[in-house]
Amino acid sequence: MTVRRADYTKALDRATVHAQAWLDSVGERPVKPQATADQLLRVFGGPLPDGPTTPDHVIDLLAGGAEPGLMAMPSGRFFGWVIGGTLPAALAADWLVSAWDQNTGLRFATPATAAVEEAAAAWLLELLDLPRSADVGFATGATMANFTCLAAARSAVLNRIGWDVRNLGLSGAPRVHVIAGAERHETIDLALGYLGLGAPQLVAADDQGRIIASELARTLRGVDAGAPIIVCLQAGNVHSGAFDPLRTATEIAHEHGAWVHVDGAFGLWAAASPALRHLADGVALADSWATDAHKTLNVPYDCGIAIVADPAAVRAAMGTHASYLIVDETGPGDPFEKVPELSRRARGVPVWAALRSLGRDGVVALVDGLVANARTLAAGIAQIDGAEVLNDVDYTQVCVAFGDDERTRAVTERLIADGLVWMSGSKWHDRDVLRISVSNWSTDDSDVQWSLDAVRRAGLVPAPS
Ligand SMILES: *Cc1c(COP(=O)(O)O)cnc(C)c1O
Repeated sequence: MTVRRADYTKALDRATVHAQAWLDSVGERPVKPQATADQLLRVFGGPLPDGPTTPDHVIDLLAGGAEPGLMAMPSGRFFGWVIGGTLPAALAADWLVSAWDQNTGLRFATPATAAVEEAAAAWLLELLDLPRSADVGFATGATMANFTCLAAARSAVLNRIGWDVRNLGLSGAPRVHVIAGAERHETIDLALGYLGLGAPQLVAADDQGRIIASELARTLRGVDAGAPIIVCLQAGNVHSGAFDPLRTATEIAHEHGAWVHVDGAFGLWAAASPALRHLADGVALADSWATDAHKTLNVPYDCGIAIVADPAAVRAAMGTHASYLIVDETGPGDPFEKVPELSRRARGVPVWAALRSLGRDGVVALVDGLVANARTLAAGIAQIDGAEVLNDVDYTQVCVAFGDDERTRAVTERLIADGLVWMSGSKWHDRDVLRISVSNWSTDDSDVQWSLDAVRRAGLVPAPS
């Protein structure tokens, strides 16, 4: 017996009803969840029943139980961390990805999803103006995209000096010098840790968190000539949104024979916009790039993108030759050679759908719109008594202090308790800050005004005595 549609119909219908009810509620509901994980564990947990439950009832139990514990991350009033919403075409495409259930590792085996991803990859390279012959892999997020790119880098820089890391490992290998800006994202360190490369040597950053090019040059001069070097740059600082001086820093690094990797989880998208691409000037000169589709591009979780200019480098790190695979010998390479996973969902398909639905103009309008909203929020907040915007709002991030740390924390707590918008706290340059990331495609003027009102209300909290 094979699958029959009737086995699925009721459950899928229930899922559609619940999904639509959720989407209906997102515009109005408070952003913050109304129940804690511990409370919800009591709803979902307990002993596993011995007998079966019908699929449609499972879906009702799931959706009903989850409802109070959902954070309205797709809301236009959600500004936490760096988290995008979901474009309609991307969400619907993601449903199809699950229904199709293609294990997208081999072009020969899953030609449709492989082709969709290749088309999306070509569009991405064109939009971001990166080398058209680069390999593009669809990973879970920028963490794994950083990992993938840095694995390619490790392989390439060691290979150049005759060390085959794939066969010989790192024990006894020449040291790989990894250099990064003081304000790199923590996932760079995480990825380097996975790769056995240890913590990076740090280069000082300026007041916006940008690596200081002359300091990078000084650090590089201290490395033995001919030693394998990887330099990690950043397009988009999570606090300030600032971009490293990519052109200068890359040129300096290349003079020393370094591999240059750019973490552009959300910032790489500036390159798609004529109004913003000066921020990412020179980015195409790098050797690899990590970005997320689940942030700025607004596809559903999860999707990160690993782009490597030299396909041979990433395939040396990620490829494999199991005898039972039917590999692509002559074409553009198999999907599994470009990411850590051998088996995976076709997570590039929602990327294709997002890009196809937006078109080039739509992508530009999306990115420009996020930045415009960030600027409006920053300008509005700057008017609030006692509020101080700490960063240059050139991109999507805003950091605010309300006088001293205690007061900033009090405002942040009050804002989160209020629950109508979500902005969270952080520490930047030794100060408590309220952090705002504008990443949702659906944020509109009324969301921005509501959010400003919420910050105003929270800002009225009396200074703790
Ligand atoms: C979000 C982010 C990451 C990590 O990405 P995930 O998608 O969470 O894995 C890395 N770098 C920067 C700059 C980020 O903003």
